[in-house]
Amino acid sequence: MSEPLPLPALHASHAGTWLRDPNGPTRGCSKGEAVMAAADTPLLMMNAPLVANRLGYPDLNGLDLLELFAFVHPAEFCVPTPKGLAHALGLDEPADDADVPLLLQKAAGALVATCESEAWEQREGAWSTLQSLARLRWPWAGVLAPHIRRPEKAEKWLFTKLPEWEETPERAQPQQVLIEEAEIEGQLARLTGEGAERREGQRLFSRDAGSIFAPRDRQKRPHVLLAQAGTGIGKTLGYLAPASLWAKLSGGTVWVSTYTKNLQRQLRRESARAWPAARPDGSPPVVVRKGRENYLCLLNLEDALQGGFAGRPAILAHLVARWAAYSQDGDMIGGDLPGWLGTLFRKRGIAALTDQRGECVYAGCPHYRKCFIERSARAAAQADLVIANHALVMVNAARGRDQGGRPTRIVFDEGHHVFDAADSTFSAVLTGQEAIELRRWIVGPEKNSRGRRRGLAARLADVASYDDAGGEAVEAAVEAAHALPSEGWLARLAEGAPLGPVEELLAQVRATTFARDESGLEAGYGIETECAQLPGELVEAAGTAAQALAAIRSPLLKLAGRLEAVLEDAPDWLDGQGRARIEGARHSLAWRIDLIAAWEALLGRLGGPADPEFVDWLQVDRNDAREFDVGLYRHWLDPMKPFAKVVMESAHGLMMTSATLTDRDESGPDWAHAIAKSGAPHLELNPKTAQADSPFDYANRAEVLIVTDIRKGDIPAMAGAYARLIEASGGGVLGLFTAIRRMRAVYGRIADRLARAGLPLYAQHVDPIDTGTLTDIFRDDPRASLLGTDALRDGVDVPGESLRCVVMESVPWPRPTILHRARRAAAADQEGGAQRYDDRIIRARLAQAFGRLIRSRDDAGHFVVLSSAFPSRLLSAFPEGTPVIRVTLEEALQRVAKGVGGTQERVEPDAAESQSS
Ligand code: SF4
Repeated sequence: MSEPLPLPALHASHAGTWLRDPNGPTRGCSKGEAVMAAADTPLLMMNAPLVANRLGYPDLNGLDLLELFAFVHPAEFCVPTPKGLAHALGLDEPADDADVPLLLQKAAGALVATCESEAWEQREGAWSTLQSLARLRWPWAGVLAPHIRRPEKAEKWLFTKLPEWEETPERAQPQQVLIEEAEIEGQLARLTGEGAERREGQRLFSRDAGSIFAPRDRQKRPHVLLAQAGTGIGKTLGYLAPASLWAKLSGGTVWVSTYTKNLQRQLRRESARAWPAARPDGSPPVVVRKGRENYLCLLNLEDALQGGFAGRPAILAHLVARWAAYSQDGDMIGGDLPGWLGTLFRKRGIAALTDQRGECVYAGCPHYRKCFIERSARAAAQADLVIANHALVMVNAARGRDQGGRPTRIVFDEGHHVFDAADSTFSAVLTGQEAIELRRWIVGPEKNSRGRRRGLAARLADVASYDDAGGEAVEAAVEAAHALPSEGWLARLAEGAPLGPVEELLAQVRATTFARDESGLEAGYGIETECAQLPGELVEAAGTAAQALAAIRSPLLKLAGRLEAVLEDAPDWLDGQGRARIEGARHSLAWRIDLIAAWEALLGRLGGPADPEFVDWLQVDRNDAREFDVGLYRHWLDPMKPFAKVVMESAHGLMMTSATLTDRDESGPDWAHAIAKSGAPHLELNPKTAQADSPFDYANRAEVLIVTDIRKGDIPAMAGAYARLIEASGGGVLGLFTAIRRMRAVYGRIADRLARAGLPLYAQHVDPIDTGTLTDIFRDDPRASLLGTDALRDGVDVPGESLRCVVMESVPWPRPTILHRARRAAAADQEGGAQRYDDRIIRARLAQAFGRLIRSRDDAGHFVVLSSAFPSRLLSAFPEGTPVIRVTLEEALQRVAKGVGGTQERVEPDAAESQSS
């Protein structure tokens, strides 16, 4: 057992502030005293930005235990709370807040002792990194220096240490195989384990899932299955059984697409039952594939380490380099880089280390053969199973680099999100932020810019010097791109001094939006106005901007032609790597050309008659009244039309599955609508449908309480209700809001009071912690509660004790946006009309939120909606048999305090509106 580190320690929560001297004692103190102490000497603390937030003093620095953890145990998981740190280090949990400073000293002692231990697995690279961190005055450097011995041999530098990926031949097309149902059942039995209880719903689901792997009979007519699978039927193994069989027999790749990272992690775990971690040749049969902006770009990291970053961001870069040496796959967003690491450094450091702007130089990059992104793309091309997200699957189907890499057998899990993902993937968005990204990609570094950004000319220097026409095209594109917005464009718009035709257009867009918006959307947040009856100046500015865009697109097109010519008639100096780089450039050129063409089309329609297939509007994005983007938007009225064309048509088999695929009104599941929404009718396909109901005992394990005596908009009453519900259930509450402003107001009123009762409260958009980490904290502490908005409604998977009660602030009506209005109007002449359109959205949201509550057979809990007027027609959102009771807050508190199941007596049938009735 190591000794506590004798340094002063500070802990601040909503309940108070505690200081501990190097050798004790711990005492409560005022916030002012804590701030003074921190200014005098570096204090041990945990999550400095959070402590600063609690003390109301933004410039707090100290010896942050999380930074030390990231250094000592890179790529290891730790919930960033005192309790989580104690668990990660095998120490006793602190009994209360006053116990935390001593824990910090013990944790620091344990981490320092690890650095001295021979058994320290992550020793390699630590000494060298520490020397760099000492030069950057990292507060821990002096503390650690005496405890990390200098290695006898020079340590391998990260860029030497990482393994190289191997070039592999293209995979042959899959064999046509037919899998028998008996084989699927056998495989399912193997995956679930012989001892597993036999689940009839899962067996049928698995057989149905197998149908999408049958050989296709006609071109552009894939097998399509829509399968509704209630929570708990085991759908993941249900589809992995036929998928793994098919992949093995055919030699092809199955893509499973999810909406949340959570499900991706679960899939990675469960797929281990069907596939080994590696094949005999070492390659992975299962690969998680994400968009390139998720991965560490080694070239950006190298630049950051060599002076591209200064001060605190440079410290972050060194900690990221430590992580990169031990990371499984270099995934920075939701992978094994702790989600909290970036937020400790407050700036956008993490994003700057990824390849956000598509500036990759491919084979021109010195780290190309070690690049995490390239490795993952190559591994995916050879994999049996690729786990990806909806957006990436759609993008790959639309513009995958090669035909072989395009998904053809696809399972869309969390299928109720496919519509939204298609909506954003197939939209056209011309905003200042998007346009400036394009400028950077073409022009490269301009004055005052830091970093390694390279423009088109630098990326294609060798081609330009070899091929005159190509060189001229690059020059022309760079010159034309100066028409795009540049740094400082938002300030210039606000001052009425735009520069160039696109900024002129955006200034008009901004002025018109402010003049016309009367949406009543949340004050201080985004505003918008439709593209109708637009002022002449705006239409004129759009014409000029469209010409400027065409002037950029045309040399890019010419350049694409030249690159093709160079590849066809390759010069001697063009080796494999050079060819790969030109291929890469051609690919990224193609999608920029498409992007600009879509912008031109969007502008070309302004002022003309509206196209009934699209919804166009102008928008100013704001956060707390601070503007951050301005632009024009074009969405498909039905985004499943391009989805059908791009994704379905080229697929051989495709399945959408979810617990909430269909709407359910009083008459039962609405399959006709689910089919219409799947996109299949656009190809005149009639998908197969299947349904497996949840085996959970909702009647006895859950209760819906509709609290009728809290008036809408009465924030003090709502805050009081949240606080009392959290107290009644002893924490374990997930609070869901439809507006950030109301959530903040409620949080501000109740966080201190709850903390004093030992019930920590966390909130999205308030605590300086990313959403994934907030969920980890919530999951880890049964007394914690979490408030949040949309992202938590179906991104949270917290089985067991930690989630006992979900509270919704009101009926989740859709936001009355222009896009919503257009789709609602389009639904007006369908059965049920516009109201049914809204009802479906609300029921889907209620069903998703309810789905957070019961994640396993043993879960039980309450679902509370604060609504004095909850329409009965929405109650069918809850699973059949779930008791629904309209109550006052007092009654709700009593029921929540008693709990559901076991301790609580049965609900009298006449008191409950049972869903089975
Ligand atoms: S190949 Fe591209 S993404 Fe990979 S490290 Fe190099 S520049 Fe970054």
